[in-house]
Amino acid sequence: MKIRYKIVFQFSLIVALNLLIFSGFIYYREEQKRQETFRGRLSKRAITTARLLFDVKGFSPELLRIMDKTSVNRLDGEEVYIFNTKDQLVFSNAETVPKDIDVALLDRIKMQNVVEFKVNDRENLGLLFDGKYDNFIVIESGIDVDGENNLRSLRQTLLISFLLIILVVIISGMFLAGQALQPIKTINYQIGQITAQNLRKRVDKGKNKDEIAELAHNFNQMLNRLELGFEQQRSFVSHASHELRTPLAAIKSEVQLGLDEKLSSVEYEKILQNILEDTDKLISLSNSLLQMARPIDNFNLSKIESIRIEELILSLKNELQHSKPEAIIRANFVNIPPDEHLTIIKGNESLLKNAFLNLLDNAIKYSNHQPVDVLIDFDEKDCIVQIVDKGIGIPKEDLQNIFEPFYRGENAFELQGFGVGLSICQKIIDLHSGRIAVKSEPMQGSVFTISLPHLSI
Ligand code: ADP
Repeated sequence: MKIRYKIVFQFSLIVALNLLIFSGFIYYREEQKRQETFRGRLSKRAITTARLLFDVKGFSPELLRIMDKTSVNRLDGEEVYIFNTKDQLVFSNAETVPKDIDVALLDRIKMQNVVEFKVNDRENLGLLFDGKYDNFIVIESGIDVDGENNLRSLRQTLLISFLLIILVVIISGMFLAGQALQPIKTINYQIGQITAQNLRKRVDKGKNKDEIAELAHNFNQMLNRLELGFEQQRSFVSHASHELRTPLAAIKSEVQLGLDEKLSSVEYEKILQNILEDTDKLISLSNSLLQMARPIDNFNLSKIESIRIEELILSLKNELQHSKPEAIIRANFVNIPPDEHLTIIKGNESLLKNAFLNLLDNAIKYSNHQPVDVLIDFDEKDCIVQIVDKGIGIPKEDLQNIFEPFYRGENAFELQGFGVGLSICQKIIDLHSGRIAVKSEPMQGSVFTISLPHLSI
């Protein structure tokens, strides 16, 4: 069901319910009022008849019947029955006594003084008349034609008003809901026009500052992020293919050279050596590319464990000193943690190892194997690791870009690398809700600071 119809339907239902309660209440009150008025009229007629008959001397029943027929106060279908206390009929203006008027009823009237009852549309009132000389039971009955007519007319008025109001509510509801939802319709149409090829289009926020404008604003923001993501992907692919082409082109020319000329076995060996080096580069590059694509998929919740940072750093230090015996890594606490949880973090060990390995590798590589310090510290929220080197540093203009994929500092080109390590690091640290920052001075060295939330929060 369309929202527009849903709103109108629900709103009309509420109005209809309210109207029903309102009309029901009015009708009930009117019916009560009618009953009271008619009961009053029955009672007056009963008492008047009894008084004339029994309290006024010389007033004959025949005269009363004539008066009754001609009276303007006569009720529609009026009948009156008067019994003495021995249940004998002493007066009636009707020909026969209906069977509802029996001894049991008369006894009830004697006991209760007043009894009301209704037979079809005829309303009856029985009362005990306390006359000057004796007591009598007077039963007065009649049909409230006027009252019933008034009620019927009220029913019709209420029904017509109900239908008219509901009609007005539906028509105005359709109009107002249509107007309120029009901007959504427009946005919907505009969204339908946006494809991967024209991500530049934005939806119209309109002039109002309502929820729909907010929706349009947020949608535009999402498009901005998507566009940026697409742009990054495009530049990633172009950078990656560029990086892949360089060693491939070198391999091709080496093979070409080997095929074109007759070379000595030493020269062939040299060519194979070069091809091996280029192939190693390709393998290392494709490994890095895989890592860049993978961290998020790999961030498997089942592999999340508690990791003691100092142990992770020590194991990396051992690994690195094994693979690069000339490297010197010194790991130390800035402050000894009073609580062991201050240096324990929750995360994926292999991803974190990867991140710290990249940073340590860079520190060794860009400092020409001078000693690298790893300082472990903490604050109330995070465990903080600083990797400090005394290497070539990073030029100011490169500082803000080094976390971009394939970006390499202008002073780094002489050293081997693809410019993807730091961007992988940042992804991994982001996945662990951490932060990575860098401070650096060319020719002085660099400090990479990683903050990861510890367990003692
Ligand atoms: P790569 O080291 O393969 O070039 P990274 O993504 O690891 O790629 O680093 C990006 C750039 O950041 C490097 O090219 C270099 O310019 C700079 N950089 C990173 N770490 C250091 C460091 N410890 N000292 C100086 N420059 C660094």
